[in-house]
Amino acid sequence: MGEVKSDIEIARTAIKKPIYEIGARLGIPPEDLVPYGHDKAKVSAGFIARQREKKNGRLILVTAINPTPAGEGKTTTTVGLGDGLNRIGKKAVVCIREASLGPCFGVKGGAAGGGYSQVVPMEDINLHFTGDFHAITSAHNLLAALIDNHIYWGNAEGIDVRRIAWRRVMDMNDRALRHIVGSLGGVANGFPRETGFDITVASEVMAILCLSRDLKDLEARLGNIIVGYRRDRTPVFARDLKADGAMAVLLKDALQPNLVQTLENNPAFVHGGPFANIAHGCNSVMATTTALKLADYVVTEAGFGADLGAEKFFDIKCRKAGLKPDVAVVVATVRAMKMNGGVKKEDLGSENVEAVRKGCANLGRHVLNVKKFGVPAIVAINHFATDTQAEIQAVKDYVATLGAEAVLCRHWAQGSGGIEDLAHKVVELAEGGHAQFSPLYPDDMPLFQKIETIATEIYHAGEVIADKQVRDQLHAWEAQGYGNLPVCIAKTQYSFSTDPNLRGAPTGHTVPVREVRLSAGAGFVVVITGEIMTMPGLPSVPSSERIFLNDDGFIEGLF
Ligand code: ADP
Ligand code: MG
Repeated sequence: MGEVKSDIEIARTAIKKPIYEIGARLGIPPEDLVPYGHDKAKVSAGFIARQREKKNGRLILVTAINPTPAGEGKTTTTVGLGDGLNRIGKKAVVCIREASLGPCFGVKGGAAGGGYSQVVPMEDINLHFTGDFHAITSAHNLLAALIDNHIYWGNAEGIDVRRIAWRRVMDMNDRALRHIVGSLGGVANGFPRETGFDITVASEVMAILCLSRDLKDLEARLGNIIVGYRRDRTPVFARDLKADGAMAVLLKDALQPNLVQTLENNPAFVHGGPFANIAHGCNSVMATTTALKLADYVVTEAGFGADLGAEKFFDIKCRKAGLKPDVAVVVATVRAMKMNGGVKKEDLGSENVEAVRKGCANLGRHVLNVKKFGVPAIVAINHFATDTQAEIQAVKDYVATLGAEAVLCRHWAQGSGGIEDLAHKVVELAEGGHAQFSPLYPDDMPLFQKIETIATEIYHAGEVIADKQVRDQLHAWEAQGYGNLPVCIAKTQYSFSTDPNLRGAPTGHTVPVREVRLSAGAGFVVVITGEIMTMPGLPSVPSSERIFLNDDGFIEGLF
């Protein structure tokens, strides 16, 4: 085996095609591509509107086991499978999320895939890209500025300054801004109040952009944002401050999906990137619905493990956008099985079939959960160089006992040639007419019961507990007409339980609901269990320390 190249070294050797050629493959004429340089373009709203009557292609979700520090490779597998499908002669498009700057400079790990399954230009995708996140940040902060300005000029709406729900955002990990006091410095600067910053991907504007079907829908949802409450507890909406129009103007271009290409010159949409805990964690509805009109197969990814990511993809994104997924690919690695089986990270290199077997319970739970939505599941074993034949066989044997199949994939090392098997099997499953998708719970189920349904059916918890205050709040929202919304549970991604250290497939645990928040614009109720960080910090040695421009002007150290 030769020297292993880093993701950025591989990406730099890509022979990219002009973006017009990639668009042409999907039938997008040049005049409907809005180019950002030579290798990125947005697709025009007019073109998208003209595709409405076309038939949809098949929708394939890539999800995974609970993440471990060993890394699973969902994005890598999403990109690889897209290339694999194209390789076997299918017209396939990949849809993934955009990257946040926070993790880029914080903990190593990009958002453009890895090895020989990446989307390019990876540097741009991981940095400013087409400016969508800057637009979202600006729209969010415009509303924040309008709130304080409204209060400054007399507060005609009677906003209770102690009950303002809208913070500010920035796309950077900066713990110093989590809690701040604004409007200090005297009369001319307004009324001092406690507030703070979240990272842009945690903004409700991000979730709204990712769930909107078109500009009109976007504007209506922006208007529905609750910015705070009056003394009588009635909500004040963004539309009460006449903010929705100007916010939509700032987001007009950001709403259009971004087209790029994979290392193998196949089309990929990279668009939107909401958190997978306090939001739904999938790329935009605009990108997915557009891709379904243009290709026979659309491969998309949901964040974190299937307990959070796939559940929200099904119960929030698919429910709201009327999507009908055909297959779910559950990504697993031998290494992660071993970690779930109790092996320490530093011992992952040596064979341990027993630990692999033991750790498979986590994978099994996810596979069976996915089937509860009426979607057939297949397991992709993302091959790592240290995996042994016996360990791989152990995973395959285990998955067979669930009535499913596990397929070994070497796309990270080999590109599409390493994932042909999975591509064929996914096509078989998708065309087999097995899928009968339906969300886990109906719209009209009471909110607390929705939480209980997810907790018992998906997390296999014994009970959900919540203070009277939380239950009263849910009832109040039901009385105000928000009872039909889906719930978006914010939970640790590392476990089925709320304890990040409890690996495997625990049962009978308790899910304590600490707090509930209404994202009235996005259209879901956020249910917070445990500590959820909406403004991450940087580690003691941030990856930014290794990022620099070399003498030839190329970026080094970006993964
Ligand atoms: P996820 O989407 O699950 O967070 P990614 O696909 O982004 O994971 O992969 C995370 C990191 O792991 C990337 O840097 C990628 O290069 C690396 N990686 C993925 N698959 C493999 C593999 N089979 N062997 C080695 N490294 C891999
Ligand atoms: Mg990913």
